[in-house]
Amino acid sequence: MYSSPFDYYRAATVDEASALLKKHPGAKLLAGGHSLIPLLKLRLAAPPALIDIGRIAELKGITVKDGTIRIGALTTHADLAASTALRESCPALAEAAKQVGDPAVRNRGTIGGNVAHADPASDLPTVLTALGARFTVTGPRGTRTIDAGGFFTGMMTTALEDRDLLSAIEIAARQKGQGMAYVKFSHPASRYAVIGVAASVTVSSGTCTAAAVAIGGLVPRATRAASVEQALIGQTLSAGTLARAASEVARDLGTDILGDLYASADYRKAVAPVWVKRALAAAAARGK
Ligand SMILES: Cc1cc2nc3c(=O)[nH]c(=O)nc-3n(C[C@H](O)[C@H](O)[C@H](O)COP(=O)(O)OP(=O)(O)OC[C@H]3O[C@@H](n4cnc5c(N)ncnc54)[C@H](O)[C@@H]3O)c2cc1C
Repeated sequence: MYSSPFDYYRAATVDEASALLKKHPGAKLLAGGHSLIPLLKLRLAAPPALIDIGRIAELKGITVKDGTIRIGALTTHADLAASTALRESCPALAEAAKQVGDPAVRNRGTIGGNVAHADPASDLPTVLTALGARFTVTGPRGTRTIDAGGFFTGMMTTALEDRDLLSAIEIAARQKGQGMAYVKFSHPASRYAVIGVAASVTVSSGTCTAAAVAIGGLVPRATRAASVEQALIGQTLSAGTLARAASEVARDLGTDILGDLYASADYRKAVAPVWVKRALAAAAARGK
């Protein structure tokens, strides 16, 4: 199918993109196009104008400074997966990016487009939720920061408002004793997450002092698994502890579990503990 007609503008700077958003009500930002263009072609979206931000240099790149990782919104999945700095400072995010779709999707798709689209089966929101990322947004009222807990508000919805542009995402770099991992049960055709789990555990003198776990794919938005986290704190991370903690995930799933032709809600609920345990085991092995 063809999209409905739209005007096309290309912005060279964030200021120019903001001015174009103001001038063209209802316009959509275009980054890698891997989620927006299918929506246009299916006529599930019909914006009057597209503002192409794909060449804004200030929105690209990864820096690690003073314990904080800053990732520009236009950084592609391939860039995230290939970054030595990211693999050292935030291995779970590099690991998740490496598992996104296929090479074409990873080379064009961006972290900003991925989180703004907020597909429940996306990988990066799960990792960013577990790690308590902060999102820097430029809008009509200036620049503000939104925490991951408040950024993903529901199925394909975020705290971004009309005329907002996400410019960067910040995450705390991995600390001593902290191990993290992302695992997913991929849909065999699209590679989207049927279930995705991000886990981070911090171990000091053999005891777990901090834990952060998030689940994606089987719930409408990336969600922290608080019951799993609580079952880990203060414990020695033995295989038995990890299995017991993983089984707690049923409490965190709520009643709104997603299901489709490929994997029913009951099936996803039944296998969720297995994937949580795998993520915890991988994170714990790295946290030693
Ligand atoms: C075949 C296929 C398989 C895929 N598999 C996976 C997978 O396994 N895992 C996964 O996580 N994803 C997957 N994806 C999605 C992919 O990661 C996309 O790259 C991503 O969802 C959107 O990023 P984009 O840069 O292409 O954004 P676009 O398509 O350009 O934009 C998406 C939305 O975000 C908005 N937007 C973009 N940038 C900004 C910004 N800076 N500020 C505010 N709003 C913005 C746009 O206006 C639009 O509404 C897949 C996609 C395809 C086509």
